[in-house]
Amino acid sequence: MVSNNNIQVYEVAIAGGSSAGLSAALTLGRTLRKTVVIDGGSPRNRFAAHAHNFFTRDNTPPSELLRIAREQLQPYETVDLVEGYITAASKTDGGFLLETRAGDKYFAKKIVLATGLKDDLDDIPGLEELWGNRVIHCPYCHGWEVRRLPVCVIANGEAAEHYAVTLSNWHSDITFLTQGESRISAEMTEKFVEKGYKLNTAPIKGLEKSGEGVRITLQNGDVLETGAVYYRPQKLLYHNSLAEQLGCEMSPEGVVTVSPMFETTVPGVFAAGDLTHAGLHQLYMSAMGGHLAGTNANRQLTQEAW
Ligand SMILES: Cc1cc2nc3c(=O)[nH]c(=O)nc-3n(C[C@H](O)[C@H](O)[C@H](O)COP(=O)(O)OP(=O)(O)OC[C@H]3O[C@@H](n4cnc5c(N)ncnc54)[C@H](O)[C@@H]3O)c2cc1C
Repeated sequence: MVSNNNIQVYEVAIAGGSSAGLSAALTLGRTLRKTVVIDGGSPRNRFAAHAHNFFTRDNTPPSELLRIAREQLQPYETVDLVEGYITAASKTDGGFLLETRAGDKYFAKKIVLATGLKDDLDDIPGLEELWGNRVIHCPYCHGWEVRRLPVCVIANGEAAEHYAVTLSNWHSDITFLTQGESRISAEMTEKFVEKGYKLNTAPIKGLEKSGEGVRITLQNGDVLETGAVYYRPQKLLYHNSLAEQLGCEMSPEGVVTVSPMFETTVPGVFAAGDLTHAGLHQLYMSAMGGHLAGTNANRQLTQEAW
Protein backbone atom coordinates (compact mmCIF):
# COMPACT_ATOMS: atom_id res chain seq x y z
CA MET A 1 0.00 0.00 0.00
CA VAL A 2 1.35 3.46 -0.97
CA SER A 3 0.44 6.59 0.91
CA ASN A 4 -0.01 9.89 -0.89
CA ASN A 5 -0.89 13.09 1.03
CA ASN A 6 -2.49 10.95 3.76
CA ILE A 7 -4.60 9.26 1.15
CA GLN A 8 -3.96 5.54 1.17
CA VAL A 9 -3.67 4.23 -2.36
CA TYR A 10 -4.94 0.84 -3.53
CA GLU A 11 -5.93 -0.86 -6.73
CA VAL A 12 -9.25 -2.01 -5.30
CA ALA A 13 -11.21 -0.85 -2.27
CA ILE A 14 -14.00 -3.03 -0.93
CA ALA A 15 -16.76 -1.43 1.14
CA GLY A 16 -18.10 -4.08 3.51
CA GLY A 17 -16.21 -7.11 4.81
CA SER A 18 -18.75 -9.89 5.21
CA SER A 19 -19.46 -12.82 2.87
CA ALA A 20 -19.56 -10.72 -0.32
CA GLY A 21 -16.70 -8.38 0.58
CA LEU A 22 -14.33 -11.03 1.93
CA SER A 23 -14.99 -13.32 -1.04
CA ALA A 24 -14.05 -10.47 -3.35
CA ALA A 25 -10.94 -9.87 -1.22
CA LEU A 26 -9.89 -13.51 -1.49
CA THR A 27 -10.08 -13.39 -5.28
CA LEU A 28 -8.26 -10.05 -5.40
CA GLY A 29 -5.57 -11.28 -3.01
CA ARG A 30 -5.01 -14.30 -5.21
CA THR A 31 -4.72 -12.03 -8.25
CA LEU A 32 -2.00 -10.00 -6.46
CA ARG A 33 -4.10 -6.85 -6.27
CA LYS A 34 -3.41 -4.18 -3.64
CA THR A 35 -6.76 -4.31 -1.93
CA VAL A 36 -8.31 -2.79 1.14
CA VAL A 37 -11.47 -4.05 2.81
CA ILE A 38 -13.16 -1.44 4.99
CA ASP A 39 -15.85 -2.94 7.19
CA GLY A 40 -18.34 -1.55 9.67
CA GLY A 41 -18.65 -4.89 11.50
CA SER A 42 -22.43 -5.42 11.29
CA PRO A 43 -23.15 -8.42 9.06
CA ARG A 44 -26.86 -9.02 8.54
CA ASN A 45 -26.98 -12.47 10.12
CA ARG A 46 -25.15 -11.48 13.33
CA PHE A 47 -28.34 -12.10 15.37
CA ALA A 48 -28.38 -15.82 14.54
CA ALA A 49 -26.50 -18.35 16.66
CA HIS A 50 -25.55 -20.41 13.61
CA ALA A 51 -25.45 -20.01 9.85
CA HIS A 52 -26.75 -22.90 7.77
CA ASN A 53 -26.85 -24.23 4.24
CA PHE A 54 -23.31 -23.15 3.37
CA PHE A 55 -21.13 -25.76 1.69
CA THR A 56 -18.56 -27.24 4.17
CA ARG A 57 -19.59 -24.77 6.90
CA ASP A 58 -23.13 -25.79 7.83
CA ASN A 59 -24.10 -24.91 11.41
CA THR A 60 -21.24 -22.45 12.01
CA PRO A 61 -21.67 -19.25 14.06
CA PRO A 62 -21.69 -16.25 11.72
CA SER A 63 -18.77 -14.64 13.57
CA GLU A 64 -16.75 -17.86 13.15
CA LEU A 65 -17.39 -17.89 9.40
CA LEU A 66 -15.97 -14.40 9.15
CA ARG A 67 -13.05 -15.24 11.43
CA ILE A 68 -12.09 -18.13 9.13
CA ALA A 69 -12.48 -15.91 6.07
CA ARG A 70 -10.19 -13.24 7.58
CA GLU A 71 -7.68 -15.85 8.71
CA GLN A 72 -7.53 -17.32 5.20
CA LEU A 73 -6.73 -13.86 3.83
CA GLN A 74 -3.59 -13.62 5.98
CA PRO A 75 -1.22 -15.17 3.38
CA TYR A 76 -2.27 -12.56 0.84
CA GLU A 77 -0.04 -9.69 1.86
CA THR A 78 -1.53 -7.29 -0.69
CA VAL A 79 -4.85 -7.37 1.19
CA ASP A 80 -5.45 -5.04 4.13
CA LEU A 81 -8.45 -5.39 6.44
CA VAL A 82 -9.57 -2.19 8.11
CA GLU A 83 -12.35 -1.51 10.61
CA GLY A 84 -14.25 1.61 9.66
CA TYR A 85 -17.44 3.01 8.26
CA ILE A 86 -17.29 4.73 4.90
CA THR A 87 -19.41 7.86 4.77
CA ALA A 88 -18.33 9.40 1.46
CA ALA A 89 -17.54 8.10 -1.99
CA SER A 90 -16.70 10.09 -5.10
CA LYS A 91 -15.19 9.72 -8.53
CA THR A 92 -11.75 11.26 -8.96
CA ASP A 93 -8.94 11.24 -11.53
CA GLY A 94 -8.22 7.64 -12.48
CA GLY A 95 -10.41 6.13 -9.81
CA PHE A 96 -12.44 6.73 -6.70
CA LEU A 97 -12.04 8.30 -3.30
CA LEU A 98 -13.56 6.86 -0.13
CA GLU A 99 -13.62 8.58 3.24
CA THR A 100 -14.46 7.00 6.57
CA ARG A 101 -16.30 8.49 9.53
CA ALA A 102 -12.91 8.67 11.29
CA GLY A 103 -11.58 10.85 8.44
CA ASP A 104 -9.36 8.21 6.79
CA LYS A 105 -9.16 8.53 3.02
CA TYR A 106 -8.63 5.81 0.45
CA PHE A 107 -8.01 6.06 -3.27
CA ALA A 108 -8.68 3.02 -5.45
CA LYS A 109 -8.89 2.44 -9.18
CA LYS A 110 -11.84 0.08 -8.69
CA ILE A 111 -14.48 -0.19 -6.01
CA VAL A 112 -16.50 -3.18 -4.82
CA LEU A 113 -19.62 -2.26 -2.86
CA ALA A 114 -20.61 -5.10 -0.52
CA THR A 115 -22.48 -3.19 2.14
CA GLY A 116 -25.56 -5.42 2.46
CA LEU A 117 -28.84 -4.27 3.92
CA LYS A 118 -30.74 -3.78 7.17
CA ASP A 119 -33.93 -5.61 8.11
CA ASP A 120 -36.46 -2.97 9.08
CA LEU A 121 -38.33 -4.89 11.79
CA ASP A 122 -41.91 -3.99 12.70
CA ASP A 123 -42.44 -2.38 16.06
CA ILE A 124 -43.78 -5.48 17.85
CA PRO A 125 -42.59 -5.85 21.46
CA GLY A 126 -40.18 -8.79 21.76
CA LEU A 127 -39.65 -9.21 18.00
CA GLU A 128 -36.20 -7.65 17.89
CA GLU A 129 -34.99 -9.66 20.91
CA LEU A 130 -35.98 -12.97 19.27
CA TRP A 131 -34.97 -12.03 15.69
CA GLY A 132 -32.62 -14.63 14.21
CA ASN A 133 -33.25 -17.00 17.06
CA ARG A 134 -36.82 -18.30 17.27
CA VAL A 135 -38.12 -15.58 14.99
CA ILE A 136 -36.76 -16.60 11.62
CA HIS A 137 -37.43 -15.41 8.10
CA CYS A 138 -35.93 -18.04 5.85
CA PRO A 139 -36.71 -21.77 6.01
CA TYR A 140 -33.65 -22.53 3.85
CA CYS A 141 -31.50 -20.97 6.60
CA HIS A 142 -33.26 -22.22 9.72
CA GLY A 143 -36.24 -24.40 8.75
CA TRP A 144 -34.51 -27.71 9.42
CA GLU A 145 -33.76 -26.72 13.04
CA VAL A 146 -37.50 -26.27 13.71
CA ARG A 147 -38.78 -28.93 11.27
CA ARG A 148 -42.15 -30.49 12.06
CA LEU A 149 -42.75 -28.09 14.96
CA PRO A 150 -45.97 -26.09 15.15
CA VAL A 151 -45.16 -22.59 13.92
CA CYS A 152 -46.78 -19.19 13.58
CA VAL A 153 -46.30 -16.99 10.56
CA ILE A 154 -46.66 -13.23 10.88
CA ALA A 155 -47.73 -12.23 7.39
CA ASN A 156 -50.73 -11.19 5.38
CA GLY A 157 -51.78 -11.20 1.71
CA GLU A 158 -49.28 -12.46 -0.87
CA ALA A 159 -46.51 -12.82 1.70
CA ALA A 160 -48.68 -15.21 3.74
CA GLU A 161 -49.63 -17.15 0.61
CA HIS A 162 -45.99 -17.48 -0.35
CA TYR A 163 -45.05 -18.74 3.13
CA ALA A 164 -48.00 -21.18 3.08
CA VAL A 165 -46.69 -23.00 0.02
CA THR A 166 -42.99 -22.73 0.90
CA LEU A 167 -43.32 -24.01 4.46
CA SER A 168 -45.60 -26.93 3.62
CA ASN A 169 -42.74 -29.41 3.42
CA TRP A 170 -41.29 -28.36 6.80
CA HIS A 171 -44.46 -27.88 8.85
CA SER A 172 -48.09 -29.01 8.90
CA ASP A 173 -49.28 -27.16 12.02
CA ILE A 174 -49.15 -23.53 10.91
CA THR A 175 -51.04 -20.53 12.33
CA PHE A 176 -51.09 -17.38 10.23
CA LEU A 177 -51.22 -14.10 12.14
CA THR A 178 -52.42 -11.42 9.76
CA GLN A 179 -52.60 -8.58 12.31
CA GLY A 180 -55.84 -7.18 10.92
CA GLU A 181 -58.30 -8.20 8.25
CA SER A 182 -56.98 -11.05 6.13
CA ARG A 183 -55.88 -10.15 2.58
CA ILE A 184 -55.29 -13.80 1.71
CA SER A 185 -57.22 -14.74 -1.44
CA ALA A 186 -60.46 -16.74 -1.16
CA GLU A 187 -58.88 -19.59 -3.10
CA MET A 188 -55.90 -19.73 -0.75
CA THR A 189 -58.11 -19.41 2.34
CA GLU A 190 -59.96 -22.52 1.13
CA LYS A 191 -56.63 -24.28 0.69
CA PHE A 192 -55.66 -23.28 4.25
CA VAL A 193 -58.81 -25.01 5.52
CA GLU A 194 -57.98 -28.11 3.48
CA LYS A 195 -54.43 -28.16 4.92
CA GLY A 196 -55.62 -27.52 8.47
CA TYR A 197 -53.76 -24.19 8.66
CA LYS A 198 -55.18 -21.74 11.21
CA LEU A 199 -55.75 -18.03 10.78
CA ASN A 200 -55.93 -15.36 13.48
CA THR A 201 -56.49 -11.72 12.54
CA ALA A 202 -55.94 -10.16 15.99
CA PRO A 203 -53.02 -7.72 16.25
CA ILE A 204 -50.02 -8.95 18.23
CA LYS A 205 -49.39 -7.48 21.67
CA GLY A 206 -45.97 -9.04 22.13
CA LEU A 207 -43.63 -12.01 21.80
CA GLU A 208 -41.49 -13.64 24.44
CA LYS A 209 -39.26 -16.68 24.73
CA SER A 210 -41.03 -19.69 26.20
CA GLY A 211 -38.73 -22.66 26.81
CA GLU A 212 -37.27 -23.47 23.41
CA GLY A 213 -40.19 -21.80 21.66
CA VAL A 214 -42.12 -18.56 21.60
CA ARG A 215 -45.21 -17.30 23.47
CA ILE A 216 -47.30 -14.83 21.46
CA THR A 217 -49.86 -12.67 23.20
CA LEU A 218 -52.52 -11.17 20.95
CA GLN A 219 -54.41 -7.97 21.65
CA ASN A 220 -57.67 -9.93 21.93
CA GLY A 221 -56.20 -11.82 24.90
CA ASP A 222 -55.35 -15.05 23.04
CA VAL A 223 -52.04 -16.58 24.05
CA LEU A 224 -50.32 -18.90 21.56
CA GLU A 225 -47.41 -21.21 22.39
CA THR A 226 -45.44 -22.09 19.28
CA GLY A 227 -42.16 -23.71 18.26
CA ALA A 228 -40.98 -20.80 16.14
CA VAL A 229 -42.22 -17.75 14.32
CA TYR A 230 -41.64 -17.03 10.65
CA TYR A 231 -41.57 -13.34 9.87
CA ARG A 232 -40.11 -11.32 7.01
CA PRO A 233 -39.78 -7.54 7.38
CA GLN A 234 -41.96 -5.69 4.90
CA LYS A 235 -39.12 -3.31 4.19
CA LEU A 236 -35.44 -3.96 3.56
CA LEU A 237 -33.15 -0.96 3.88
CA TYR A 238 -30.42 -1.45 1.31
CA HIS A 239 -27.12 0.12 2.37
CA ASN A 240 -26.88 2.01 -0.90
CA SER A 241 -25.74 5.49 0.12
CA LEU A 242 -22.24 4.99 -1.36
CA ALA A 243 -23.76 3.67 -4.58
CA GLU A 244 -26.02 6.70 -4.66
CA GLN A 245 -23.11 9.10 -4.14
CA LEU A 246 -21.26 7.43 -6.99
CA GLY A 247 -24.29 7.74 -9.28
CA CYS A 248 -25.05 4.02 -9.62
CA GLU A 249 -28.47 3.06 -10.94
CA MET A 250 -30.86 1.45 -8.48
CA SER A 251 -34.35 -0.03 -8.44
CA PRO A 252 -37.14 1.93 -6.72
CA GLU A 253 -36.62 -0.39 -3.70
CA GLY A 254 -32.96 0.62 -3.55
CA VAL A 255 -31.35 -2.50 -5.01
CA VAL A 256 -28.15 -1.60 -6.86
CA THR A 257 -28.26 -2.66 -10.53
CA VAL A 258 -25.38 -4.89 -11.64
CA SER A 259 -24.44 -6.51 -14.93
CA PRO A 260 -23.71 -10.25 -15.19
CA MET A 261 -20.10 -9.14 -14.46
CA PHE A 262 -21.31 -7.60 -11.18
CA GLU A 263 -20.39 -4.16 -12.41
CA THR A 264 -22.79 -1.32 -11.57
CA THR A 265 -23.86 1.24 -14.16
CA VAL A 266 -20.79 3.30 -13.15
CA PRO A 267 -17.74 1.79 -14.90
CA GLY A 268 -15.16 0.60 -12.39
CA VAL A 269 -17.68 0.31 -9.54
CA PHE A 270 -18.64 -3.29 -8.84
CA ALA A 271 -21.19 -4.50 -6.30
CA ALA A 272 -22.15 -7.83 -4.77
CA GLY A 273 -24.22 -9.48 -2.08
CA ASP A 274 -27.61 -8.60 -0.64
CA LEU A 275 -27.20 -5.04 -1.91
CA THR A 276 -27.55 -6.21 -5.48
CA HIS A 277 -30.71 -8.32 -5.57
CA ALA A 278 -34.11 -8.71 -4.00
CA GLY A 279 -34.27 -12.49 -4.37
CA LEU A 280 -32.82 -15.29 -2.29
CA HIS A 281 -30.58 -13.46 0.15
CA GLN A 282 -28.08 -16.09 1.24
CA LEU A 283 -24.43 -16.34 2.19
CA TYR A 284 -23.76 -18.44 -0.90
CA MET A 285 -25.24 -15.87 -3.23
CA SER A 286 -23.19 -13.13 -1.57
CA ALA A 287 -19.98 -15.13 -1.70
CA MET A 288 -20.64 -15.92 -5.37
CA GLY A 289 -21.30 -12.26 -6.18
CA GLY A 290 -18.19 -11.16 -4.31
CA HIS A 291 -16.08 -13.70 -6.15
CA LEU A 292 -17.35 -12.52 -9.53
CA ALA A 293 -17.04 -8.84 -8.64
CA GLY A 294 -13.43 -9.47 -7.56
CA THR A 295 -12.67 -11.49 -10.68
CA ASN A 296 -14.08 -8.84 -12.99
CA ALA A 297 -12.41 -5.93 -11.17
CA ASN A 298 -9.11 -7.78 -11.63
CA ARG A 299 -9.90 -8.53 -15.27
CA GLN A 300 -10.64 -4.86 -15.95
CA LEU A 301 -7.38 -3.76 -14.28
CA THR A 302 -5.42 -6.34 -16.28
CA GLN A 303 -6.98 -5.28 -19.58
CA GLU A 304 -6.39 -1.59 -18.83
CA ALA A 305 -2.70 -2.25 -18.09
CA TRP A 306 -2.19 -4.47 -21.16
C1 LIG B 1 -31.19 -13.45 11.11
C2 LIG B 1 -30.60 -13.89 9.81
C3 LIG B 1 -30.05 -15.15 9.67
C4 LIG B 1 -29.53 -15.57 8.46
N1 LIG B 1 -29.06 -16.85 8.35
C5 LIG B 1 -28.55 -17.29 7.18
C6 LIG B 1 -28.09 -18.63 7.04
O1 LIG B 1 -28.19 -19.43 7.97
N2 LIG B 1 -27.60 -18.99 5.83
C7 LIG B 1 -27.54 -18.14 4.76
O2 LIG B 1 -27.07 -18.55 3.70
N3 LIG B 1 -27.95 -16.85 4.88
C8 LIG B 1 -28.45 -16.41 6.06
N4 LIG B 1 -28.89 -15.12 6.17
C9 LIG B 1 -28.71 -14.20 5.04
C10 LIG B 1 -27.27 -13.64 5.09
O3 LIG B 1 -27.04 -13.08 6.36
C11 LIG B 1 -27.04 -12.58 4.02
O4 LIG B 1 -27.45 -13.05 2.75
C12 LIG B 1 -25.55 -12.20 3.97
O5 LIG B 1 -25.10 -11.80 5.24
C13 LIG B 1 -25.31 -11.08 2.98
O6 LIG B 1 -23.94 -10.87 2.89
P1 LIG B 1 -23.37 -9.45 2.42
O7 LIG B 1 -21.89 -9.60 2.46
O8 LIG B 1 -24.04 -9.04 1.16
O9 LIG B 1 -23.88 -8.42 3.53
P2 LIG B 1 -23.69 -8.40 5.10
O10 LIG B 1 -23.39 -9.76 5.63
O11 LIG B 1 -24.88 -7.71 5.67
O12 LIG B 1 -22.40 -7.52 5.32
C14 LIG B 1 -22.33 -6.17 4.96
C15 LIG B 1 -21.14 -5.58 5.68
O13 LIG B 1 -20.92 -4.26 5.18
C16 LIG B 1 -20.69 -3.40 6.28
N5 LIG B 1 -21.04 -2.03 5.86
C17 LIG B 1 -22.26 -1.53 5.52
N6 LIG B 1 -22.17 -0.24 5.16
C18 LIG B 1 -20.86 0.09 5.29
C19 LIG B 1 -20.12 1.28 5.08
N7 LIG B 1 -20.70 2.40 4.64
N8 LIG B 1 -18.78 1.26 5.34
C20 LIG B 1 -18.16 0.12 5.75
N9 LIG B 1 -18.81 -1.04 5.97
C21 LIG B 1 -20.14 -1.05 5.73
C22 LIG B 1 -21.57 -3.93 7.39
O14 LIG B 1 -21.12 -3.48 8.65
C23 LIG B 1 -21.39 -5.44 7.19
O15 LIG B 1 -20.29 -5.94 7.91
C24 LIG B 1 -29.48 -14.69 7.36
C25 LIG B 1 -30.02 -13.39 7.49
C26 LIG B 1 -30.58 -13.00 8.69
C27 LIG B 1 -31.19 -11.63 8.82
